[in-house]
Amino acid sequence: MTSPAQASIIDGKIISAELRARVAKEVERLKRDHGLTPGLAVILVGNDPASEVYVRNKGIATREAGMNSYEYKLPADTSEADLLAKVRELNADPAVHGFLVQFPVPDHISQQNVIDTIDPAKDADGLHPLNAGRLASGLPAMVPATPEGCLIMAKRAGGDLAGKHAVVIGRSNLVGKPIAQLLLKENCTVTIAHSRSRDLPAIAREADILVAAVGRANMVTRDWVKPGATVIDVGINRVPAPEKGEGKTRLVGDVDFNDVAGVAGAITPVPGGVGLMTVACLLRNTVIAACRANGIELSKDF
Ligand code: NAP
Repeated sequence: MTSPAQASIIDGKIISAELRARVAKEVERLKRDHGLTPGLAVILVGNDPASEVYVRNKGIATREAGMNSYEYKLPADTSEADLLAKVRELNADPAVHGFLVQFPVPDHISQQNVIDTIDPAKDADGLHPLNAGRLASGLPAMVPATPEGCLIMAKRAGGDLAGKHAVVIGRSNLVGKPIAQLLLKENCTVTIAHSRSRDLPAIAREADILVAAVGRANMVTRDWVKPGATVIDVGINRVPAPEKGEGKTRLVGDVDFNDVAGVAGAITPVPGGVGLMTVACLLRNTVIAACRANGIELSKDF
């Protein structure tokens, strides 16, 4: 028996760079033809180091795309009322076309109250119940960036997704559920699995497209994967890396990459995969919001 071919890598670096270039081109057109500069704002409450890195990277990518970037850093003891007041201020600011509050917020603030207060038209993360409902109803919506990035990658690997069986492991509002909706919209047959699913490996083995959005390092191994399947790894997990030195860590996905690459048809790496798509899709969302707010049609190829 011949050993299975090595999976092709779905390269987030290349695909996200292409998307960011398209965003920059569209921004240039909006500035030139309409005098409109899309603006993305981020509110960060507290000093979580990982969140600070995310926010900084979003700011850099926003400016690189020619857009306006606004950052609001609030102290960790900011009251919920004060945060909601800031959200309402951005709702009313015509220079801000999309914004998000970086999660997690400190425990004394209700994440849902924050989400509910964001103007759905400016909801760059697509978390407002109105956007989730519109997505589920097949209506135009602000779509969460990470799931959108996953879909772009799955299409890049598999072309037309119609009729394929997609299994999504994870059912969060931020990732699992919206990915499932997007795949359903592409006419996949979709199974959503979660922590209470029975015999997860058997469910996963049914998948032509397997999406892991769990948060458990290297959970998906080769015996979970149908030969030739497309595997999209959303997980970002920090694990000890003694080989790099004492106390050092490295990032891994929910998929055991080296193991699964021997059986999958295509696979996203971590890092260098879905994570890179998230920021690019966030920028795209902001451009879409800016156009909708100003009654401007998007370019056909955007
Ligand atoms: P989450 O809110 O914690 O949701 C995790 C999901 O996984 C839940 O639905 C949970 O099931 C399920 N789950 C947990 N343990 C499981 C198990 N043993 N077997 C099967 N399912 C299990 O996390 P999330 O926000 O969706 O994020 C998931 C992962 O993606 C994390 O690693 C996160 O860091 C990463 N992420 C990456 C990006 C990116 O840009 N690449 C963006 C967002 C998130 P229940 O519902 O039953 O509890």
